[in-house]
Amino acid sequence: MSLLKRLTGTRPILLDGATGTELNRRGVSTALPLWSARALLEAPDVLRQVHADYARAGAELITANTFRTHRRSLAQAGLGARAASLTQQAVALARAGVQAAQPSHPVYVAGSLAPLEDCYSPTLVPPQAECEREHAEMAQNLAAAGVDLILVETMNTIREALAATRAARATGLPVFTSFVCRTDQHLFSGETITAAVQAIAPLGVAGLLINCTPSTTIHLPFGELREAVRAQALPIPYTGLYANIGHTNDVDGWTSTADVAPLEYARLASAWMRQGANVIGGCCGTTPAHISALRVIFD
Ligand SMILES: [Zn+2]
Repeated sequence: MSLLKRLTGTRPILLDGATGTELNRRGVSTALPLWSARALLEAPDVLRQVHADYARAGAELITANTFRTHRRSLAQAGLGARAASLTQQAVALARAGVQAAQPSHPVYVAGSLAPLEDCYSPTLVPPQAECEREHAEMAQNLAAAGVDLILVETMNTIREALAATRAARATGLPVFTSFVCRTDQHLFSGETITAAVQAIAPLGVAGLLINCTPSTTIHLPFGELREAVRAQALPIPYTGLYANIGHTNDVDGWTSTADVAPLEYARLASAWMRQGANVIGGCCGTTPAHISALRVIFD
C-alpha cells in the first residue's frame, strides 16, 4: 500500500525513536558540526543497524538520518557539495535497514527536514530568502532520494516552519510538520502553538506534531495543538508527538537518563493517545526498547 493511501485512514502510526542519541549510545561520535550526519561517513553499518532495530521493534515510519545533511551544516565540515549524495546515502541506509529487519508489516521511510541552524536557538534562524532557498534544495534532495514522506521537524519559529513546509509540500509528497516547545509550551521563539497551527495548517500538511520536548510535559503543548487543529476548517488527519527523555548538555549535546524507562514511556503514550494522538514515536534519548514498548499500546 502506498503511504498516501495509508494516510487516508486514521489507524495510528508508530514512528521510530531517536537516531542521533542512539548512535551516540552505541559509541558512534556525533560531534558537531556534523552531529548525526557523521555516522554516514564513519559508521554506516551501525546506522543501518539502528534503522533495522526500529523496524524490528514495530515502527511503521522510519526516519532517514538526514537531520544534518543540508548544505549549510555539511559546509561547516567542508562537505557542502555532498549534500545531495549524503542525503541519498542516508535514505538508502534507512531502506537497507528496513530490508534487513524483514518486518511483517509495511514500513515507510520519512526524510527529516530540520532547522538550518541550532534547534533551540530561534535567533539563529537565517533570513527568509535563505530559509526558502535552502529548504527547497533539501526538500528536492529528499524527494530525489525517494522518501515516502517529508518530516519537517524540531521547528522553533513559525517563519522557518513555513519556509520548510512550503518547500516540502512543493515536492508533492505528504508532509508532517513538527515543533519543539519550551517548558512554558510556547515555541522557542515565544510564539504560541495555536499561532503555529494557524500558519501551517492551510499549507495542506497531513500531520502536525510536537517533538523534542520532555515526555513528562509534552502533553501540555500537544493539548493546545489538538485544540487549534480542531478549530481549523480543513481537516488535519494526523496529530501526534515524539518526546525526548534526558536533558541537553554543553559537551556532546545530550545526556540520556534512565528515569523514563520504556514501560513508563508507554504509560505516558497511552495518555497521549487518549488526548487524540495518532502518530507517536520517540525523540532524543529514546531507544528501540521504547518503541517496542509502544507497540503494545498500538495493538
Ligand atoms: Zn530530539
